[in-house]
Amino acid sequence: MSKPLKYLVLHCTATPAGREVTRQDLEKWHLSPPPTGRGWSRLGYSDIIHLDGSLENLTPYDTNDQVDSWEITNGVAGQNSVSRHVVYAGGVDANDVKKAKDTRTPEQLATMEVLVKYIVLRHPHILVAGHNQFAAKACPSFDVPSWLRSIGVPEANIYKP
Ligand SMILES: [Zn+2]
Repeated sequence: MSKPLKYLVLHCTATPAGREVTRQDLEKWHLSPPPTGRGWSRLGYSDIIHLDGSLENLTPYDTNDQVDSWEITNGVAGQNSVSRHVVYAGGVDANDVKKAKDTRTPEQLATMEVLVKYIVLRHPHILVAGHNQFAAKACPSFDVPSWLRSIGVPEANIYKP
């Protein structure tokens, strides 16, 4: 079973500025049974952008315009069968974890820009969104449409609810 890929959704790990997040951290948070984790069968994201800008694939995906069951990640309830989810490490203030903050490093910004533009080229009909456009959350702690405009992503690829 597969469905057409509709959304690229951007996320943050909701961890303090400057703190690295590993695949092992995400596996513990997402896959471990409660109360340690959420007990999901799949990770929440396809790729993570680390503090130094390096890009790590967490869940494999292919290059066609379909989301196969093996590509699905659990980023946004209700949208996962038609979405790809990308996360950056960070998203809250270093001294106050309740305070959402755009903590993307220059290296993370550069990687996110390249990745988003590449995915838009690969999937010309995709809509790029922030998690907070689908749910009452701060994630990814920045205004995704404004940022997309600032880096020149075509208006047709910017999700508007
Ligand atoms: Zn999120």
